Order: sequence, then structure tokens, then C-alpha cells
Amino acid sequence: MPNNLKVLRGLLKNSNYQLIFASSGRQCLDLVQKNRPDLILLDLMMPEMDGIEVCRRLKESPLTAEIPIIFLTASNEPANLIEAFDLGAVDYVTKPFRTSELRARIETHLKLFHLQQKTQQKAEQEKIVRHIVEAIHSSLDIEQLFIRTVSEIRVFLELDRVAIYHYTNSQAYEVAAAGEDAPLAAVFPLLPIEESRSFLVRPDSTDSENTTLLDHWQIHQEFRLPLFDTPGFYGSLIITTRQPDPFTLDLQAALADIASQLEVAIAQAKVVDQLQSTNQKLEQLTEQLEQLANRDGLTQIANRRHLEKRLAYEWRRLLREQRPLSLIMIDIDYFKLYNDTYGHLQGDEGLKAIAATLSQVIKRPADFVARYGGEEFTIVLPNTDTNGALVIAQQVQAAVAQLAIPHAASPLSDRVTLSQGIISRIPSFDLSWQQFLDLADRALYDAKMAGRNTYQIAA
Ligand code: GH3
Ligand code: MG
Ligand code: MG
Repeated sequence: MPNNLKVLRGLLKNSNYQLIFASSGRQCLDLVQKNRPDLILLDLMMPEMDGIEVCRRLKESPLTAEIPIIFLTASNEPANLIEAFDLGAVDYVTKPFRTSELRARIETHLKLFHLQQKTQQKAEQEKIVRHIVEAIHSSLDIEQLFIRTVSEIRVFLELDRVAIYHYTNSQAYEVAAAGEDAPLAAVFPLLPIEESRSFLVRPDSTDSENTTLLDHWQIHQEFRLPLFDTPGFYGSLIITTRQPDPFTLDLQAALADIASQLEVAIAQAKVVDQLQSTNQKLEQLTEQLEQLANRDGLTQIANRRHLEKRLAYEWRRLLREQRPLSLIMIDIDYFKLYNDTYGHLQGDEGLKAIAATLSQVIKRPADFVARYGGEEFTIVLPNTDTNGALVIAQQVQAAVAQLAIPHAASPLSDRVTLSQGIISRIPSFDLSWQQFLDLADRALYDAKMAGRNTYQIAA
């Protein structure tokens, strides 16, 4: 062993460093490749390949370029030293060495190197965390965002098993999402699930029950992070691994960042969910209100408001299609007398019975009956001509006769009867639906004039 190395060995023998010695440039390159040291002390003058050349080669390879190199020189080699610094050497020590100086320089550069490595790792991890956080916020659907979170954490942080658990109450939970290899529910329920702080379960933990479980599932460590939600505990982000020691404090901090972003995303998804269900409820309510607004309270059939809307719609539709539209206007005969005889409440019952009977007469889905007002009703028959309308009017008359509501005061019959005005037209621009309705009303008047309990067709 050359003299220099013996001296160095002597100077550093009581240190905590692990030392490797090389006695030539070539051997140095070889050993550095194999051992990846944290620092290299390099003699400037060596046989075969000098220190400058070794330094150049180490700096060329990205695997060794970052390792700090301190040159050992005689005081008469300033030109070479300049070249060494140009190549990236961090420092030099001149011979003869003084223990304190040598140690101080080694110490300083090791510290710097470790700091630099840590910063690099941290920057890399931050990049990964940013990526994962972006993935978390890319969806407002809670199920989707859980699935993405779990798979991104697994892939980018190179962890074995990742799962999100949602606790429905202190004893029950559901697996909200699990990475592909996530352990099935069997592992987790045995661990305390009400835990609401981060914790690391390792084989050396004092809890032997957990350790046995980890053993059983060949998990080396499990890291759990609580997920909070207003008003309380939502669940856990659970990560397990088979690697010996991956949960460094840095990684734990990164995972805590991810968990808090996950909490934000959960809260947002919930708001969106609530908004959606509120919207749905509003739509249902609006529909119910709309239905209520269109229905007659006493007879439960369509009211005049609805009649006019539907009639206007059918009028336009059949105007386009040039198909016939029929309408029958119906009025109960001597109904004032009916009320006078049987009372208003009994009159109401009569109106309900007649409305139900009219509803039963119509058969096609597009046909409909409405209470026009008081004791007047309207039947609308789209795609129906005069003959079709006549058939319906006759059926109405027969059905009401069969209903046989007694009407002792009627000058006409001992049962309730009604009169009908019929109109049938193919809609045209010459006529509005209001005029159409008016013509039916006139036909009804004609039926009254003709003696009641009959129908008339509009001219
Ligand atoms: P006409 O044969 O000429 O139609 O004679 P009418 O008595 O039926 O005619 P009029 O229009 O003079 O009277 C309608 C009656 O219908 C007046 C009113 O007491 C009654 N009526 C209107 N709406 C209601 C209601 O909601 N309930 C009850 N019970 N009666 C009503
Ligand atoms: Mg009337
Ligand atoms: Mg009447």
C-alpha cells in the first residue's frame, strides 16, 4: 500500500466513516462504481491514470457525478488544482495532512452532500405529490376520485397496497377504494378502526396482535392516516408495504399532504352531491306544483288553465299536420235546481261523479277531459272528425243516463241530464283556438235551446 494511504488510514482510523481504499486510478473507478461512496479523497498524482483523469471520468457518469471529490495535493501543483476545480472538485487538502483540517473538510462536504441529496429527494417527492393532488382534484365524483387517488399513490409513490376506508359508524366501515393488490377486508377490521390520528404499525410495535397480523399478510409496515370531514371522522387512508423501511418522515409528511387534499376533495364532492340532490328535489317539487296548478281541486280532472294550454298546443300541432280536432262543450241541465233541492254538498258529489264518468268515456291517450268551470266540462279529441266526436257525445249521454243521479226537480227527467255542443275542424289560420272554443259554446247554447239532454254540432 502506498505511503499516502497508510497515512490517511492512520488519520481517519478513529472516525465513524466506513473507508475503502484504492491504490490506482483504475481501481478507484471500479470501487466507486461498486460502492457509491458519499465522498472521495483523490490523490492528484498517481501512476498510470492521474487524479485529473479519474475526476473527469467520475464527473462524466451521471451515477457518480454528484459524489464530492476532495483532492490531496503537494503544495507545488497549483496549475493542476485549477484544472481539478474546473472539472468539479469541491476542495483540496495539501500534504502533509493535519488531522483536524482533514476531518473538518470531510465533515463539511459530507454534510453538504447529504443536504443536497435530501433537497433533491424532496423536490422529486413534491413533484409527485403535486401530480397526485392534481389527480385528486380532477373529479368531483367521490367514487371516481377515490379510485384515482388510490391508484396514483400506489404507482407514483411505489407503495404496495393502498386503500381508502369510509367508516359508517365507529364499528362499521366500507372499502371506498382499493389499489389492485389491496388486502381484502380481512386485514383491517381487526386493527382499531376508531383511531383518529396518523400511525405507523410495524413489526417492532409493542402491539403483538398487530404484529402477528402484519406477519400473516406479509406486510412489513402499515401507515394509516385519518380523513376528517365536517362534522367528524370520515375514514382512513391506509397504505401497506412489504419493503423494509419506506415510510420515512418525508414520505409520511407527503402522505399527510395528500390526505388533507383528499379531505378538501371529499368536502367538495359532497357539496356537489347535495346540490344535485337539492336540484332533483326542486325539480320534483316544481313538477308536483305544476300538476297541482293544472288540476281541478274538486273533481281531480284537468282545470281550465290546463285545458287552454293543451288546446293551444293541439291546435298548433294539428294545424301543422292538417288533421281534424274535435271538442265537446258539456253543461249539466238545471243544475241550479239540483243544488236547490239536494244542497250544495250533494251538488259537489254529482260533479265528481260526472267528471269520473266523462274520464271513463274517452279512450285514446291524447283525448282529455277538463272542468271548464262551474258545472261545465270540455272533452278534447285530437285527430278526431265530426263522426268520431258524435260517437263520444252519444257515449257521454248514455253513460250519464246509466249513472242515474236522481234529480226530482228537473222539468225534463227524474235523473240528471246534460247538453253538449260539438265542434270539429281541421285547424287553419282563419280560426284561433279561442274562436274554436267559442263555436262549441254556441253549439251548446243551441242544444239548450233545442230542449236540453241533447247535442248540437256547430255549423
Ligand atoms: P241550464 O240547464 O240552463 O244549464 O241550467 P243551470 O241551472 O244548470 O244553469 P246555471 O248556469 O244557471 O246554473 C249553474 C249552477 O251550477 C249554478 C251553481 O249553483 C251550480 N254550480 C256551479 N259550480 C258549482 C260547484 O262547484 N258545486 C256545486 N254544488 N254547484 C255548482
Ligand atoms: Mg252553466
Ligand atoms: Mg247548467
